[in-house]
Amino acid sequence: MHFLTHEHIQTLRAEFGTPVYVYDQKQLETAAREVLAFPNAYGLTARYAMKALPTAAIVQILSGRGLHIDASSGFEAERALLAGVPPERIQISAQELPLNLKGLVERGVLFNACSLEQLEAYGRLFPGREVSVRINPGLGTGHNNRTNTGGPASSFGIWHEHLDRVRALQGQLDLRITRMHTHIGSGGDPQAWKHCARLSLSIAARLPEVVRLNLGGGFKVGRMPDETSANLAEIGNALLDDFRDFAKAHGRELHLEIEPGTYLVARAGAIVANVNDVVDTGDGGYTFAKVDTGMTEFLRPNLYGAQHPISIFPADPRAARDEIDVLIAGHCCESGDMLTPAPGDPEGLAPRRLKRPVIGDSIVIGGAGAYCSGLAASHYNSFPQAPEVLLTPNGDFRLIRRRQTLEQILSNELPGG
Ligand SMILES: *Cc1c(COP(=O)(O)O)cnc(C)c1O
Repeated sequence: MHFLTHEHIQTLRAEFGTPVYVYDQKQLETAAREVLAFPNAYGLTARYAMKALPTAAIVQILSGRGLHIDASSGFEAERALLAGVPPERIQISAQELPLNLKGLVERGVLFNACSLEQLEAYGRLFPGREVSVRINPGLGTGHNNRTNTGGPASSFGIWHEHLDRVRALQGQLDLRITRMHTHIGSGGDPQAWKHCARLSLSIAARLPEVVRLNLGGGFKVGRMPDETSANLAEIGNALLDDFRDFAKAHGRELHLEIEPGTYLVARAGAIVANVNDVVDTGDGGYTFAKVDTGMTEFLRPNLYGAQHPISIFPADPRAARDEIDVLIAGHCCESGDMLTPAPGDPEGLAPRRLKRPVIGDSIVIGGAGAYCSGLAASHYNSFPQAPEVLLTPNGDFRLIRRRQTLEQILSNELPGG
């Protein structure tokens, strides 16, 4: 479930130390091709939701292959600009109105208003301009309120019953709502996508200037061996007729946008770490492998009970090892820093059947491209950020983010009594 050989791991450890993130450029490029081939009736723009993995080199690879960018804050939009993405290829969908929205939009960055307040603020800055609105179509999918991005329990977007208020603002501020957006995280089921698209189209029908419909991201990726990934071609094909029917009924051939984060990067990433210690809690207890990573690089197990493939690579690959049930404990002084929680239950424990761990072994965490380096409890226990390395198509490792130093963590402190 990952792309690293024993030789890769030895090289990574020798050159960069542990813990280290590593990304496979070939898999990034394959995923980019799949996303850009998404079936569509009247044109497609695919955005990379860069919050999944915002490191410049990754943004550049995906942007260079033709993806536009979804930025989730003003800072992220700045980051994409600094990485060289043209402003007109960046759209902001943010919970927090960027303080520098005016400057960003003046440079050409696009804005997707995610609340009535945001729509009004944009309209006051830029009366008469084009804008996108994010609508909560009243339907949610995520399995709990930590992953849900639609429905009545979600704060994302403008509630679909408030369309009259959208139109009132549109009139007052002379806005042109030419784009509409929904991101409910529809997952891997083509029927769920179809249902969401139908709801969104019925809303777009009531916004007569809309010519672009963005259905968001949320394409499921199977990380564990028993999980399957979304089939993009099947999902896209399931939507074609609805777009064609809309064009017949309303005379508008809607340009489709999608904006995956996970799908583009999840499988292309791994974390390599060292087994620092092995302890047990006696008969009827557990065996724990303590590793030099944890919530500081890999918070998803702690947040969601997320399951990732984990394997143990003995320092000596010829060593014979039996398999035992192991819990993998992170390096933070925090009992919840556990890499092997029960599925969907961060408070439960689920020992894994793994090679018996020995101090000095490596562990490799697979499926660690999305929301790992980008979503970590950085600096807890004062651990510096781990480096990031790219495995290039010709098989070389290239450092794309250096390991942080303690001085960098402390650089903004002003000590003294
Ligand atoms: C996070 C996010 C995405 C990407 O979601 P994935 O589940 O990573 O594909 C797309 N659009 C918006 C608005 C988001 O916030």
